[in-house]
Amino acid sequence: TNSNFAAAAGEMDSRGFDSTGREFSSATEMWAQEIGATASASASASEVPPGAAAPSNGDAGEEAGGEGKREEWYSKGIAYWQGVEASTEGVLGGYGCVNDADVKGSAAFLRPLLAERFGAVKRHLVALDCGSGIGRVTKNFLIKHFNEVDLVEPVAHFLEAARENLSSCMDVGHDTHKAANFYCIPLQDFTPEEGRYDVIWIQWCIGQLTDDDFISFFNRAKVGLKPDGFFVLKENIAKNGFVLDKEDNSVTRSDAYFRELFNKCGLYIHSIKNQKELPEELFAVRMYALVTSQPKVTKNGKRGRPKNSPRIIRS
Ligand code: SAH
Repeated sequence: TNSNFAAAAGEMDSRGFDSTGREFSSATEMWAQEIGATASASASASEVPPGAAAPSNGDAGEEAGGEGKREEWYSKGIAYWQGVEASTEGVLGGYGCVNDADVKGSAAFLRPLLAERFGAVKRHLVALDCGSGIGRVTKNFLIKHFNEVDLVEPVAHFLEAARENLSSCMDVGHDTHKAANFYCIPLQDFTPEEGRYDVIWIQWCIGQLTDDDFISFFNRAKVGLKPDGFFVLKENIAKNGFVLDKEDNSVTRSDAYFRELFNKCGLYIHSIKNQKELPEELFAVRMYALVTSQPKVTKNGKRGRPKNSPRIIRS
C-alpha cells in the first residue's frame, strides 16, 4: 500500500534488519510491522496531498491496530529500561568504559558552539537533557556549562537516581549551576516550556521514538528553544538503512535516515562530529548540532553550502 510513496521515501526505503537477523525491505515495512503503516513518516503529511484518501488496502485493520500497537511499542521499550540497574553501566548497556571518552567528546563539540552562539555577552544558560537516564550527561558535562539543567526521563527509578546524583548545586566562580526540574515523561509526550532553553541535548534515546513521534517531538521542542538556541543530537549510527533492536524496542538509524528526518522537522545541520575512541564492536556515534534556520557562512567558511546545492563548475 505504500509503494506510491516509494519515490519520495529515499533512505527510508533502504533495507534494514532487526536484532534477530530478519531483513526489512524498507523502514516503511518495519514500521508497518511494529506500529501499523499509517504511523510511518513515509506516509506523513509531506508526501500525502491534503485531503488525499488513505491507501485503501488493508488500512482499516492497521488503523484499528494502530494506537494499540504504538502503545505496545513504547511500553515494551519502557519495560526494558525498568529492568535495568540505575547506574552508569546500566544506562550504557554494560559499556560504562565509554563514559569518559563520551563526556570529553561532547565537551569538545559543545564548547566552540557555545562560544560562537552565546559567547558575546555573559548570560544565564539553560539546557534540557532528554532521555536523561540517571543524569550521567548532566552530572559529568552539561551542568558545568549551564546554570540550569532540566531533565526529562520516563523511567522513574532512573529519574530518582538522577535527583540523588544531582542534589547539590555546583558553584563555578560566582555562578550557580544546578539541576532545576525533573520531568518523568517520555519524549513523545513531552512539550517543553516556551523559550526556556539555550540547548536541548538528546543523547542515546531518540531511537526509542517512531519516525512520526521523532518529527512531532522536534517540532514541539523547537518552541522550547531561545531564539538562537539549538539542539544537539548524539546517537548511534547504522551503516545503512536501520537496525531494529527487538530487546529494547529502539531503532538505530543511518546518517542519511537522520538527515531525512531533520528535513521533515525543518531542522538544519549546523555542524557534525564523530565520537572518537569507542570500542570497535559498537555502532559509530555522531553528534549533530541542529538549528532552526539555515546556517550562514561562517568566518572559517566551514559550512554554508549544503552538500547538494549547486556550485560553479570551472572548466
Ligand atoms: N541519555 C542517557 C541515558 C541513555 S540510556 C545517557 O546517555 O546516559 C537510554 C535512556 O532512554 C534510558 O534512560 C531510557 O529510560 C530512556 N528512554 C526510553 N524510552 C524513552 C522515551 N520514549 N522517551 C525518552 N526517553 C526514553
